[in-house]
Amino acid sequence: MQQGYLRVRTDGRLVELKKGLQLDRYKTHDIELLIDRLEIGPGVEQRLTESMALAMKLGKGSVMILENGKEKENYYSRHLMCPTSGISYDEPQPNTFSFNSPYGACRKCNGLGTITEIDIKSIIPDPLKSIKVGGIIPLGPQKDSWIFKQLIALGRKYNFNLTMPIADIPEESLNVILYGSDDVLNVTSDTGGGGYNQAVSYEGIVNFIISQEAESNSPAMRRWIQGFMQYVECPECKGTRLKKEAMYFFSSR
Ligand SMILES: [Zn+2]
Repeated sequence: MQQGYLRVRTDGRLVELKKGLQLDRYKTHDIELLIDRLEIGPGVEQRLTESMALAMKLGKGSVMILENGKEKENYYSRHLMCPTSGISYDEPQPNTFSFNSPYGACRKCNGLGTITEIDIKSIIPDPLKSIKVGGIIPLGPQKDSWIFKQLIALGRKYNFNLTMPIADIPEESLNVILYGSDDVLNVTSDTGGGGYNQAVSYEGIVNFIISQEAESNSPAMRRWIQGFMQYVECPECKGTRLKKEAMYFFSSR
């Protein structure tokens, strides 16, 4: 009122500013200042320009325009912010569009454009073989090792054993063998004499291989493991190597 404005819109309703105007103080309200009401026609440009400039200034870069007779206002903003979803975007900078920068690189593939996957056919080339005789190539034939102990315990829970052909293992069970499960397994270990039970969760062959590759210091070992891997286009950035937010700048043109 002091600055000479006459109307506001509170919770979508236009009201005149007058002394004693009250709002329910226990509720949150949308309060918008009405800058101008005008009819679009010849000669209106200058007033429109001035009003818009003022609205942008008071609105800190955002204005609403409501057409007479319409319910829904149009929202305009200088900021990179979506009024509906509230998602805001950083101002674009050169490194927003660089996959060499953490500001631009796709988070899933770290800007490589490809991700590493284990090629299942290369780890189980012959499903007629059993796990016991080495049907899972990276594991080799059954040994008295931790991973085989886990597989035996897993088999009790998921209905398979190490002597059956891999092709006969139910699909759901094979998925658990490959990709792991959050279930807690009781694995009997007899390392150091008197056997004991250990509760573990099983990580899966695929994750086992990936972690071996990451942790191994031996180039030969890494090459061997990499033989089971294949590189596929990153599903997140579709090979563009850029993060989603950077791609939105392109798609809006
Ligand atoms: Zn990617």
